[in-house]
Amino acid sequence: MSEMICITCPLGCHLSIQRISETEISVTGNRCSRGETYAKEELLFPKRVVTTTCRAVGLPAGAQAASLYAPRRVPVRTADAFPKEKIPELLKLAANLEVTLPVRRGEVLVRDALGTGIDLVATRTISCGEPS
Ligand code: SF4
Repeated sequence: MSEMICITCPLGCHLSIQRISETEISVTGNRCSRGETYAKEELLFPKRVVTTTCRAVGLPAGAQAASLYAPRRVPVRTADAFPKEKIPELLKLAANLEVTLPVRRGEVLVRDALGTGIDLVATRTISCGEPS
């Protein structure tokens, strides 16, 4: 038996979870069905939104030295919650990714990252060296 708090709504129900098998759990303490869904996802298929940065390339010659805002990194995030077990692999992918400027907020940088169906997108518009 394990316990967790449902964070789906402000009521924060205290859930008690009994593992029935590798792929099945029983949940009590939830005041609505969303608590059971939350516990199942969290214990059987945990996911997280991932935020990180990627290397920025393609600045005009001299811009890096000339501008205080010359970006070296582009902030990125997954467009949706990402399978937790694949996060280390995703971070490696992002660490090796070079994003050519300019880039727009929401632009897809990696489509269907690691075959999950989830895109990696830019979270900031960066044009000639200045974020906006
Ligand atoms: S189980 Fe339902 S009522 Fe309880 S915290 Fe989760 S969403 Fe809210």
